[in-house]
Amino acid sequence: MDLITALHADPEGVPLAPLAVAAARRRDAAWGRAVTFSPKVFLPLTNLCRNRCGYCTFRKAPDDPAAWTMAPDQVLASLDAGARAGCTEALFCLGDPPERAFPSYRRLLQGWGHDTTVDYLVWAGRQALDRGLLPHTNAGVLESHELRALMAVNASLGLMLESTSERLTEPGQVHHAAPDKHPARRLAMTAEAGRQGIPFTSGLLVGIGETRAERVDTLRAIAALHAEHSHIQEVIVQNFRAHTGSPWADAPEPSGAEVAWTVAAARLLLPDDISLQAPPNLNPASLEDLLAAGLNDLGGISPVTPDYINPAWAWPHLGDLAARCRAVGFTLRARLPVYPRHEARISVDLAPARARCAAFEAAP
Ligand code: SF4
Repeated sequence: MDLITALHADPEGVPLAPLAVAAARRRDAAWGRAVTFSPKVFLPLTNLCRNRCGYCTFRKAPDDPAAWTMAPDQVLASLDAGARAGCTEALFCLGDPPERAFPSYRRLLQGWGHDTTVDYLVWAGRQALDRGLLPHTNAGVLESHELRALMAVNASLGLMLESTSERLTEPGQVHHAAPDKHPARRLAMTAEAGRQGIPFTSGLLVGIGETRAERVDTLRAIAALHAEHSHIQEVIVQNFRAHTGSPWADAPEPSGAEVAWTVAAARLLLPDDISLQAPPNLNPASLEDLLAAGLNDLGGISPVTPDYINPAWAWPHLGDLAARCRAVGFTLRARLPVYPRHEARISVDLAPARARCAAFEAAP
């Protein structure tokens, strides 16, 4: 039985070693020996969210002293810092639009002249573009008209599919109290992004209670949507990390080998034109294993802001990362938040960010 057939039939029985060899071969043929990253400034516009995912410490309720929403002057200060540091991407990342659940948040937005989070994000996106930064926004499950509005000022949009497993929405599972994590809602938005021709980032989580077979099913779903719309530019394989203070603080984390297995399976199950990404700050000891398993991208790395979603896991230093890549035969390269084969789909000006990319390549 060949490896791909085996992954579909009995993923538990497929060992890492042959999978990694086949996946690395596929990566070398499609993406070569360059490993890419996106120099970004990270703007977590708000940490209010109506969902309660079991693994999350980012989310806060409005009455929590740690709740925040970035005011316009804070947005501008972050963008200016990112531009000064030569970043190319402004990552706007938040939970699902909180005005659906919290009237106090809606009033806050209205005080700044915005009716909705998406209106505020469109304003922020314009400010980013004015500073030569390319916005990439992941704002949870959005309606069709909201995607259209955001794409006028973004280079790409994203939504982690996370998992197609409906089992994970059952009582006792991570997504039971997270209505926006129901797979059907996320598949529907990903399909709508495809109908609109939006360069799109998807991804899956590893270690949230899913089985290997459910991971394979998630990858098949992403591949099927891409087969229909050709819009998935990258897929993130993101491993669960236990956060102090979250309901899942004591849950076991997936091993480095399991993350590498998933990277290799993803490389073999996804079309070659989809970039495959894993965050180096969540895998500080296993970068080399992930590269050996077919990885070609490290995602956004910020020289100016922390990973607000995983605050205990600092971004690696770019010079160190470049040296580790070089030691195993790879070159670290900066990229834009839109991949070259999708550039023709978007309307924002790429020229300023392109120039900064070149400067970052020289830096590490
Ligand atoms: S993971 Fe995202 S959607 Fe889930 S609770 Fe946290 S912020 Fe909300």
